[in-house]
Amino acid sequence: MNKFDSKMVRIKPAILGGDPVRQDYLIFGKPEIKDEEINEVASVLKSGWIGTGPKTQLFEKEFAEYIGVKHALALSSCTAGLHLALLVHGIGREDEVITTTFTFAATANAIHCAGAVPVFADINPFSFNISPESVKEKITRKTKAIIPVHFSGRPCDMRSLEEIAKENGIAIIEDAAHALGAEYGGRKIGNLGNLTSFSFYPNKTITSIKGGMLTTDDDELARQIKILSNQGLSSTAYERHRNDNAYEICVPGFEYSMTDVQAAVGLPQLKRLEYNLKKREKICMLYNDAFKGLPLDTPEIIGNNQMHSYHLYNILLHLDEMSISRDNFKQALEAENIGSGVHYIPLHLHKFYRDHYGYKKGDFPCAEHAGERILSLPLSHALGSDDIEDVVNGVTKIITYYQK
Ligand SMILES: *Cc1c(COP(=O)(O)O)cnc(C)c1O
Repeated sequence: MNKFDSKMVRIKPAILGGDPVRQDYLIFGKPEIKDEEINEVASVLKSGWIGTGPKTQLFEKEFAEYIGVKHALALSSCTAGLHLALLVHGIGREDEVITTTFTFAATANAIHCAGAVPVFADINPFSFNISPESVKEKITRKTKAIIPVHFSGRPCDMRSLEEIAKENGIAIIEDAAHALGAEYGGRKIGNLGNLTSFSFYPNKTITSIKGGMLTTDDDELARQIKILSNQGLSSTAYERHRNDNAYEICVPGFEYSMTDVQAAVGLPQLKRLEYNLKKREKICMLYNDAFKGLPLDTPEIIGNNQMHSYHLYNILLHLDEMSISRDNFKQALEAENIGSGVHYIPLHLHKFYRDHYGYKKGDFPCAEHAGERILSLPLSHALGSDDIEDVVNGVTKIITYYQK
């Protein structure tokens, strides 16, 4: 798509009664389920053991090998992983945990639900990742941890964050829901020495329908996480079924375990991960090329011993050059039958965090600026070249029509 051609022809958007760019609706984070997953699930369902058992163990083993870490603990979600990570660090009442305001609800909810206070920090306006300078300003004597989120799959400035953590004697817990396959300093995210929580929600890079994984090299933390995720019991149901031994309640825990049916979906997905990451990267390059010259920012390509995992493809609309808001832009794209996502409305602007913690508009200008302009376009390794073309045409069509 050439910007000069498209500028000359202003096509009426579907939202104003024109023909949509495509006939069927394109969801923005389309999961890819193949026969391998369906067959694995069928075999687990027929095996007689559908709860937490051998498939979950195998998924943990293969995940740990992929990340290059000693322990991977399969859980019911990434949110559960963040919650347990806080608990095993002994974080609770009266403690403060610093995280980015530019993230999904789960990150701050986990802090609040652990009994601690979520303290927000602003973002770097280019990477959208938590700003180490802003973190520094938020440190108090009550600060016990920092939870950086590798936004869209781009690693945070971990060197600066680790310096801050070390200086203040606090922990880092990584929210890597977007960052499976990402690398920092030549090491995979999940292998930087911090408890790291991954997500396998349907729209994530790999899915187990729902599910998560917590990684660590620390034997003791891994032991505690395993017990806490299984009601605080000394043995799992699978171990008891094999050995007929009794359990003891070590601590009142949670039911945060993964099932073998979920692991059966996740295992083949993990095998295809590296191949799919390359596909996702290629799609992002195609988008970046196609959008050159339009009044929007595209994601910066990173190098420097770092690898992006391309979970989201975000554009930042230059609203001052258009006569349309981001929300109306999203609706117009929707009418073209192209789905998109807003990642994120900053958490400090949401009702609970305003009412309960007293945050207000103006607190984090960089996150607010991005939050008003950002849009995630369809990105999935399941996208075909026709889909990509439709997205490019849809975005170009709407921008061209509303450009001042
Ligand atoms: C998806 C997501 C989560 C939550 O993942 P679940 O597996 O659904 O609990 C947490 N943090 C971020 C940044 C996410 O995008």
